[in-house]
Amino acid sequence: MSDPAIIGLTGGIGSGKSTVAGLFKSLGVHAVDADDVARDVVEPGTDALARIAGHFGEQLLSSDGTLNRAALRTLVFKDPAEREWLEALLHPVIRLELARQLKPHEYTLPYVLLVSPLLLETDQHTMVERVVVVDVPEAVQLARAMARDNNPRDQVERIIAAQMPRETRLERADDVIDNSLPLDQVRQQVEALHRRFLSRHSSLDRT
Ligand code: ADP
Repeated sequence: MSDPAIIGLTGGIGSGKSTVAGLFKSLGVHAVDADDVARDVVEPGTDALARIAGHFGEQLLSSDGTLNRAALRTLVFKDPAEREWLEALLHPVIRLELARQLKPHEYTLPYVLLVSPLLLETDQHTMVERVVVVDVPEAVQLARAMARDNNPRDQVERIIAAQMPRETRLERADDVIDNSLPLDQVRQQVEALHRRFLSRHSSLDRT
């Protein structure tokens, strides 16, 4: 079997990446979530976690030995050099693990999805053949992210401001899913893309 095409799915916080990924999964598409992988690579016992504890000190670990992500975020938010150190450590490890989890298995369709909020900000975009952007207006993004996480407005606004601007992301898109619509209409957009991806990447085309 030829390797499946890797298609990237991205969007800002609260844009609906997980929701849209779920719709693709319900069609049988294998999807790997970069947020999940970013957590996996710093589980207790990993080399990356040992290095982080060695660099920043054991106070970055919770009493059960897991990474205190909030403490780490606060630390690197204040210090760009520490942030660079952390990214230099984690990005290659995450990339390797993504590649491992995206590997084809017996039931893989002609394409798989890499779901990542940082697809375009990191070198993860070099792993994909196409970029699908999940898009909503900023007001919708803000309202949905606040409601989902029970977070105050200013915190979500700060995260949105730190992410790639909506227009820039849209300029990099090969395909756009309008997720401001009700879910049944979003599902129709997903089904239409799925049909296109299946025909474009069918194994006949790729051998
Ligand atoms: P992301 O993974 O991009 O951060 P989510 O998929 O978690 O975003 O979506 C953010 C919130 O918005 C979730 O609570 C989700 O249930 C809700 N949501 C997503 N898409 C829609 C939609 N089309 N209509 C209404 N609510 C939606």
